[in-house]
Formats: sequence, C-alpha cells, structure tokens
Amino acid sequence: MLLDPPLPEVAFVGRSNVGKSSLLNALVGRRIAKISGTPGKTRALNVFLIPGSGEWGVGRSGSHRNEPLRTPHSLYFLDLPGYGYARAGKAQRAAFRGLVKHALRRERLRGVVWLLDIRHSLSADDQAMQDALADDETRVLAAITKGDKLSSGKRSTRERELREELALPEDQVVVTSAKTGEGIADLKEAIAGLISGVMQ
Ligand code: GDP
Repeated sequence: MLLDPPLPEVAFVGRSNVGKSSLLNALVGRRIAKISGTPGKTRALNVFLIPGSGEWGVGRSGSHRNEPLRTPHSLYFLDLPGYGYARAGKAQRAAFRGLVKHALRRERLRGVVWLLDIRHSLSADDQAMQDALADDETRVLAAITKGDKLSSGKRSTRERELREELALPEDQVVVTSAKTGEGIADLKEAIAGLISGVMQ
C-alpha cells in the first residue's frame, strides 16, 4: 500500500483489548483523521494522518491530555489489528502475520509502538511479535498500558518484571494510562525521537 504524500510512519501493535484505541485517542486527541480502513473487516490496517503543526504538544503534566498532538512534521500512524484472539482461525493468524511482515518492511517505517498491558506477562502471541520485531531489527517503543489499574507497589513490581522480559533500553519503555494521562507526554517525546532518528 502506497501512502500519498510519502511521510514517516509509526506502527502501533498489541493484543486485542490492550488499550490501543484508547492510547491512540489519548495521543492524538480529536484531530485524528482516519484515511483508510476497510469497514466491516476487523483485520484491516487503519492509517491515520497526523498533521504537522509545529512542536510536539508535550505540555505540563495534567494539561497535555486535551491538547492536540502536534508534531514538527506530518506523519502516518499505522494501526494494526489487535492480535491474540482466542477464536482466530489459522487463516486469520496467517493473514495477520503477513500484515505485520509487510508493515515492518515498509520503507518509511521509523519504528513501532508495541503495547503491553501492565498486568500481564508476555503471551505466546506477544513473544511471536517480539521475535518478528527482533528479526527485522525494528526500532521499538514499548508502551505499557493501563498503569492506573494497579496500586503503586504492585505497579513498580510489574514494571520491573516487564522491563526484564522486554530487555529494551530504559528509555524505550514507557508506562502509560489513557485514563489518567500518565506517560502520554513521555510517549509523545519518545515517538518524536523515533521520527527524528535520534533513537538508534
Ligand atoms: P483495544 O482493543 O486495544 O483498542 O483496546 P481499547 O482501547 O478498546 O480498551 C480495551 C478496554 O480497556 C476498554 O474497556 C478500555 O476502557 C480499557 N482501557 C484502555 N486503556 C485503559 C487505561 O489506561 N486504564 C484503564 N483503567 N482502562 C483502560
């Protein structure tokens, strides 16, 4: 699929129900414009054009939630279908793997935001995603979702455990909550880093 105009791309992946729609909404506010997607097809790839309009809206914590996402340059968010449906058939799983392979090899892909629920260890499907990301040497940001679901003690433990499982550099793992807005500004900054090529 060729996107016109050609712009940097960032893909979002995660298990179904991980909180991907909520996080995308928290990141981009209401300015998000869906430019493709096949109605009725649950396994389609959705593309959002994020218009560039100056600096990133990092803002003070607490105020950023209602700010639109502002990027120095326009870009596309590629929203891949959630994976790991218990009832997904063989053909559906194969189609998903094909879609991931295609997305990871796109020429303008700057990196992937990989969502993981703070409450769960990596599932077999998550591990398959981890392998796919490693195979293609994709730059990855892990967005840990639903940080507000745990008490602070439990949260710190889970964060540490997940960081160990993921084995990613510290600044490539961000704990977020679409509900409280926690970590959203940090994630925006990290995505800006992906696009500008700061992150190696
Ligand atoms: P998706 O299937 O990955 O797009 O997930 P959704 O964004 O639809 O979220 C799945 C469920 O998790 C919904 O019931 C959301 O309200 C809930 N959810 C998503 N993000 C958060 C969060 O940050 N905190 C809490 N408490 N619930 C969340």
